[in-house]
Amino acid sequence: MPVVGSPRNTGRDPVPDLGTVLAWFDRAERDLPWRRDGVTPWQILVSEVMLQQTPVVRVEPVWHEWVRRWPAPADLARATGADAVRAWGKLGYPRRAMRLHACAQAIVERHGGTVPSSVDELLALPGVGDYTARAVACFAFGQDVPVVDINVRRVLARAVAGESDAAAPSAKRDLAAAVDALATVPEAKRPRLSAALMELGALVCTARSPRCGECPVSGDCAWLAAGAPSGTVAPRKVQKYEGTDRQARGRLLDVLRASDGAVPRARLDVAWERDPAQRDRALDSLLVDGLIEQTEDGLFALAGEA
Ligand code: SF4
Repeated sequence: MPVVGSPRNTGRDPVPDLGTVLAWFDRAERDLPWRRDGVTPWQILVSEVMLQQTPVVRVEPVWHEWVRRWPAPADLARATGADAVRAWGKLGYPRRAMRLHACAQAIVERHGGTVPSSVDELLALPGVGDYTARAVACFAFGQDVPVVDINVRRVLARAVAGESDAAAPSAKRDLAAAVDALATVPEAKRPRLSAALMELGALVCTARSPRCGECPVSGDCAWLAAGAPSGTVAPRKVQKYEGTDRQARGRLLDVLRASDGAVPRARLDVAWERDPAQRDRALDSLLVDGLIEQTEDGLFALAGEA
């Protein structure tokens, strides 16, 4: 594979021609529902928010249910925040449900119910950060906008910079590296290359067990050329869930999701009996986050249902 000297390249590291990643993606792309024809920008935005902290296999059924119930921003905007939290199910980090609800309302109020296409307008929406704005601009609207997630950072760190893993995130450096990488293919193909690099990191150039023998850039990978020293991939800490405040919050929220209305404190207490101080902390944080409310007579309910 030739090394491409691009006018957009910053000159830091030579970037291999990543056209081979596109060819690989044509063969290996997973048939994910939000990638299919006819999926709208709103539905792609919903998928991107759900996928940020949750694996594909858990997102798929919830995403299907959300787009069935709320196919457009106006549909979700008409629902309540409690409806959104309930439909979020067990995806975790349920504030994302509230943020999507607020995002839908803002799209209706500011854009007549149509998801805007520019990164700046997307960024101005509640709950939409830099990654999500770029992902929607790129994947929903086909714009030549670099999109960098942990998978892309890792692939470029190895293939281009010869590092075993990505350094700490740096928006400026990460976007510059992605721009250099995208510049190795014609402009019209760059949105698809962004998706392909993500897929390569998710399926082949994985954090702990890169399968270099199956990789379309193995012939030019700087890390592989350096001998891919075994043991240089640091083992990742597996995030503990059991016994954490997150689990306690989830249990309390489960009680309110399953209830039609407000419940007394005792119903929440039995949902997390192992550590009363932790339960109090979890309850406080749910109130502070606006996910739940307390009625004047001391009952608890999902936000908007008190
Ligand atoms: S050759 Fe190996 S380390 Fe290099 S990009 Fe491919 S999978 Fe990753």
